[in-house]
Amino acid sequence: MQYRNAQVMIDLDAIKQNIAMLKTQLPKETTIFAVVKADGYGHGSVEVAKAALQAGASMLCVAILEEAVTLREAGIKAPILVMGYTDPAFSGEAESLDIQLTAFQLDWLEEAKRHISNQLNLHIKLDTGMGRLGLRTVEDVAMFLETVDDPLFNVVGIFTHFAKADAADDSYYLYQEAHYKELIQPIKQRYKQSILYHTGNSAASMRFPADMYDAVRVGISMYGLYPSIYVRDHSPFELIPALSLTTQLVHVKQLPQGEKISYGLTYETETDEWIGTLPIGYGDGIQRRFQHFEVLVEGKRMPIVGRVCMDQCMVKLDKAYPIGTMVTFIGKDQTEKITLEEVAEHLGTINYEVCCLLTSRLPRIYV
Ligand code: PLP
Repeated sequence: MQYRNAQVMIDLDAIKQNIAMLKTQLPKETTIFAVVKADGYGHGSVEVAKAALQAGASMLCVAILEEAVTLREAGIKAPILVMGYTDPAFSGEAESLDIQLTAFQLDWLEEAKRHISNQLNLHIKLDTGMGRLGLRTVEDVAMFLETVDDPLFNVVGIFTHFAKADAADDSYYLYQEAHYKELIQPIKQRYKQSILYHTGNSAASMRFPADMYDAVRVGISMYGLYPSIYVRDHSPFELIPALSLTTQLVHVKQLPQGEKISYGLTYETETDEWIGTLPIGYGDGIQRRFQHFEVLVEGKRMPIVGRVCMDQCMVKLDKAYPIGTMVTFIGKDQTEKITLEEVAEHLGTINYEVCCLLTSRLPRIYV
């Protein structure tokens, strides 16, 4: 039951269309892995996963085992890869739920063996320059291949992650791509059966589609957001943002000049002003730094005045509006729009982070 007057709306058709657009650019044999970690970048992992699978994604990617279990508990049967580190003590759980894990440490393999009853599907992670997780040298790969050669393990994939595929200067992307090619040589020789080779995130798959191997792991672009301004400005198609955030005016009053607004009295009315109260605050992910940012009311921009509280904030209105008037934090209203990118710029961060900031207190409504 939704009682409150604020919600995040997710357009699942937009997600499907974004996947369809991304697919048109890729070689026919390259499939899409839908990245639904962090609760689907704040969009809701289960619903996004289902939409992505309907749109033709062949695998779901998450960061931690809990996220994979959530998908299985929702009845999703598709292949799932946990891309981050999983404690090897939980290999048995992954095996029993048919969840594929990421491996890159010899000790990890030894420990995992103690918990696997039949066979665990693994993707080998290569660190080609991200400096985060993975095997870094041909020698390390060779040694790893010796240890993983065990009936308890089934190597189904081998992947890496790009650190700078979204920037105008593509030299580091090219360096990582070349390093990947070098590191997979021993794997290609050893494994004659089909293994999924995958490297690209949204930026790489949009900019270098011809370089992509068996699959791309797309997150941000599937949600209709660009990995960077550079990628946006050079995109062959326009992605459709899936997320919007709206609330309502729950109180409207006219104040004379010199009245104070919110904690710390940081705002004082300059003349007679109409002030609206919104039932949303930093407890929902509308951080205090939203102060001085804007919202849309009847297609017009209105400033957020005074400090943002945990559950509420105030806006300066251009006139009186009825209680219940819709207010848009993110999304379109008439001809005006506020994008996640614009919010990110105001907050000094990236669109990825802003959608993850929206807390579970805001209901997700799927349209
Ligand atoms: N692959 C890995 C290993 C990731 O960590 C991520 C996200 O950070 C992605 C793919 C998806 O990246 P993007 O959202 O830029 O498409």
